[in-house]
Amino acid sequence: MRFISTRGKESVTGAEAVVRGSAGDGGLFVPEFFPAVSAEEIEQLCAMDYPERAAFLLSKYFDEYDGEELLSACREAYAKFEGGDAAPLLRMDNGMYMLELFHGPTCAFKDIALTLMPYLLKKGCEIAGVKENILILTATSGDTGKAALEGFREREGVKICVFYPEEGVSKIQKLQMCTTEGDNVNVVAVRGNFDDCQKAVKAIMNSPEKREEIAKKGYLLSSANSINIGRLLPQVVYYFSAYCDLLTSDQIKAGDKVNFAVPTGNFGNILAGYYAKRMGLPVGTLVCASNKNCALTDFFKSGSYNVKRPLFKTMSPSMDIVVSSNLERLIFELSGRDTELTATRMRSLAETEKYSLRAEEVKEMQSMFYAGCTNESDTVECIYDFFMDYGYPMDTHTGVAMSVASRYEAMIEEDKDAEKRPMVVLSTASPYKFPQDILYALTGNDVKDSYKGIKRIHLLTAMKVPEPLKEIRYKTPRFKTVVSCGKIYDEVLKFIN
Ligand SMILES: *Cc1c(COP(=O)(O)O)cnc(C)c1O
Repeated sequence: MRFISTRGKESVTGAEAVVRGSAGDGGLFVPEFFPAVSAEEIEQLCAMDYPERAAFLLSKYFDEYDGEELLSACREAYAKFEGGDAAPLLRMDNGMYMLELFHGPTCAFKDIALTLMPYLLKKGCEIAGVKENILILTATSGDTGKAALEGFREREGVKICVFYPEEGVSKIQKLQMCTTEGDNVNVVAVRGNFDDCQKAVKAIMNSPEKREEIAKKGYLLSSANSINIGRLLPQVVYYFSAYCDLLTSDQIKAGDKVNFAVPTGNFGNILAGYYAKRMGLPVGTLVCASNKNCALTDFFKSGSYNVKRPLFKTMSPSMDIVVSSNLERLIFELSGRDTELTATRMRSLAETEKYSLRAEEVKEMQSMFYAGCTNESDTVECIYDFFMDYGYPMDTHTGVAMSVASRYEAMIEEDKDAEKRPMVVLSTASPYKFPQDILYALTGNDVKDSYKGIKRIHLLTAMKVPEPLKEIRYKTPRFKTVVSCGKIYDEVLKFIN
């Protein structure tokens, strides 16, 4: 399988796509075509465990990787998840399903891809004949950073530098990142918001001069953000896995369509659902849920993407994003894979902060996606109600998805002609990752200390506190550097010198 750039004629192998992170023309790598998964294959997947499902699906894309080795890498990655299943599906008493993706080492869904990525990258270097060390630059709204640090710390031949918005992540997220051990890691706070961080990191990635300067020091630049196809494709697996779990528990019949509600920031998670659909999974509507940062909601309603707007800080910091990187991959598909049009639109986004789709593209997009946003008080209400009614505590990001999913369900309920389908809500983080906000949502009480919050939530819900969050209490933060956006590149150079 070859991977092509959304903006040009570049074509590389899967190994090269993972190693390089993004294309030289500023575009993102996408598969040359979507490998089909037949109904028979879905049936086969049902008999497999999660690592086998992952290896089966990923080998359709990464066909130059050895199949057996890929399977053992998947086994190793998903053995790091508590409870023995990387993506358990729970049935709620309101008839919806929760797909829990947060049982990995850092308690958020980013672990699904980032526990596997070190293998994809290391093997990718071997296959592509890359001899240099790899320097991974990552902008994070909180969860990617820690998941990438955990995945890559103490890996030979790799250095990783993470940039996060100083005021834009939760206390626990900050602690998680700043207590990471290992000689090959660096964590830097940036004065600005996530969009500023992401833009600055992308500017380094896309600058031939800076790449050259970094290459002179013996490093090849790569990314652990979802612009990297190695981040995106492992996320396709849990959509299939959830579908199989619905089949094997007789909740649906083969071929039935299933809806998914996804709390969305950089559009990576939900795009993986779109990829699953293109591969042949019977996906119904993809519900794109946003918090108060609703650029995507407006885009799905109007067909115009306008990012000239303020970025709000919310209780769901990992979704506090205005410019969603992976939208480029969707508009590339909607345009009929027109690289010139995609490049023009991305240029327009950079220069005028907006672009618009054609009417037929908007129609197609709206036939697959439903987008909605929700405010802080509705999210709190939803988390509270759900715990009171069904005894299930969810995190703030999942709360956004549930809030929008409930609204969607109510709309379908009213519509006599609409087809009723099962709804799977992607639960992307442990509630213990945002203890103050969750305690507030569940009880109305404010606590200053995160650990006090964790303790209270535990007393209230009897939900197990994840081991990784217990441990960081006893670790001292190592990283204290704070820089302005303009100084990000200097920090990179300091780190590799
Ligand atoms: C990253 C993240 C999201 C958003 O996912 P995208 O792929 O950026 O759309 C949602 N919830 C949590 C907890 C996250 O960490």
